[in-house]
Amino acid sequence: MAKRTLIAGNWKMNPPSVREAEKILKGVMARTAGLRKTEIVIFPPSVFIERLVKIAGRSKIRLGAQDVSVQSGSGAFTGEVSADMFYDSRARYAIAGHSERRNPSAGRGESNHEINFKIKAALAAGLSPVLCVGERERDRDHAYLQLIKSQVEECLKGISKKSMEKMIIAYEPVWAIGRNAVREAVPEEFQEMKIFIKKILADKFGIVPADTVRILYGGSVSPKNAEGFLREGEADGFLVGRDSLSPDKFGRIAKIAEDAGQWRLS
Ligand code: PEP
Repeated sequence: MAKRTLIAGNWKMNPPSVREAEKILKGVMARTAGLRKTEIVIFPPSVFIERLVKIAGRSKIRLGAQDVSVQSGSGAFTGEVSADMFYDSRARYAIAGHSERRNPSAGRGESNHEINFKIKAALAAGLSPVLCVGERERDRDHAYLQLIKSQVEECLKGISKKSMEKMIIAYEPVWAIGRNAVREAVPEEFQEMKIFIKKILADKFGIVPADTVRILYGGSVSPKNAEGFLREGEADGFLVGRDSLSPDKFGRIAKIAEDAGQWRLS
């Protein structure tokens, strides 16, 4: 059976206070309360998660971690937060491999190998990982396709077919992300990449998990371009950055997804 469209908001290191975080969440709750066919997940800074889980209460909004440690459980790892701790705080999703954490010039330079460990830690703790993949630029010789293939294969190394039921993949071309985006991606570019990623998954895990794994689009998603990516690009949802901090814009994106997704579950 088709899964629900997933609209996820990555708040990154925003907003600056828990009070403002509560206000944004309440705004999103008010605008998404009536949605039935769309799943909403918010990834706030980790220190806000417990408070926001309480506010989300019985609503359908779920919370997630923007990153987890490669280490499980607890131990002498200063500054690290384990997937088990996030699960205990009632987070249910975890982003792994966001381009801002892969970026070597931002001082982190996470490798596929490290991301693979994070995915395993998240799965072991009961979290659904959202693996981000995406190229920094597109070359004429299509070498970027090999890069995506390596990202998918290496990050999912050793993951069982059964665990793939919980996996979500977000295709986020780095050149289309954030205020410094080179240009917007078009739905056809996403659709091609979705087919390409599904083929990699089918070769590795077989048709069944490949068919059901949701492939999200991320990169300057807004109420203006959301419908195109859903209908023409056949995106299974979005990972939204900037516009997830605006309850109005995020709510509009979720409503567009709800309307576009009517056919998915019927
Ligand atoms: C992101 O950083 O994951 C992202 C998609 O950001 P934005 O929507 O702001 O481009």
